[in-house]
Amino acid sequence: MRESREDSILNAAMLIHEASNVYAFTGAGVSVESGIPDFRSASGLWSRFDPMEYGTLGAFRRDPEKVWRMLQELVEIVDAEPNAGHRAMARMEEAGLLSGIITQNIDGLHQKAGSRNVIEFHGTVFRLVCLDCNRKFPLDRFADSLPPLCPYCNTIMKPDVVFFDEAIPPDALRQVEQIVRRADVLIVAGTSCNVMPAALIPLEVHEIGGRIVEINPEPVLKDMAEVTIAGPFASSMQQLVKALSS
Ligand SMILES: [Zn+2]
Repeated sequence: MRESREDSILNAAMLIHEASNVYAFTGAGVSVESGIPDFRSASGLWSRFDPMEYGTLGAFRRDPEKVWRMLQELVEIVDAEPNAGHRAMARMEEAGLLSGIITQNIDGLHQKAGSRNVIEFHGTVFRLVCLDCNRKFPLDRFADSLPPLCPYCNTIMKPDVVFFDEAIPPDALRQVEQIVRRADVLIVAGTSCNVMPAALIPLEVHEIGGRIVEINPEPVLKDMAEVTIAGPFASSMQQLVKALSS
């Protein structure tokens, strides 16, 4: 029998209260209500810029100026503001009910909302990296002079985000491995879990006995999830936090 949304939220709150290590795993869907369309959606970035031509390290090395035509648009997300869902997650951490967030997003909105322990699995648009000397710089230092040139090498720098042909940053991978072992509840929100290797995270948590709470307008983890909250991120998280504090 299908649970009502209210029941699901109460059940999720119960699981979270019983758990000692609750983590969240978030994706593009959590930022949609902050005005950032999913890059993979019909109107998203990757429908207008061919990922193979604009989203790979190889493409960047061949023609960084061309790739910056896409990146100019990508870096505009630095102006987005967190929504009520981001803020609700930050409140959970503050209350000691959430140990950390693994995010596939590069928009920094969890941190802007006040979350402290955030692992950026795909990097961040707020930082630039020079592919020649590997030095990293804050984007805002170069905001008026894009594409940004490395002050040491004078070559065009790349946002410190994971392109399609790049590996996950080793630091992020290590931290995620620890979380997977520790998590007894993983809140999976705003992700359709189809980008590898990120999609393995809920699967691994589930396989070693962690419980999955899914928050998605169109749930995808039906077999795996202990609790499914079918709804938009912001209002679902607000209601969850309300249930947790009552
Ligand atoms: Zn350099």
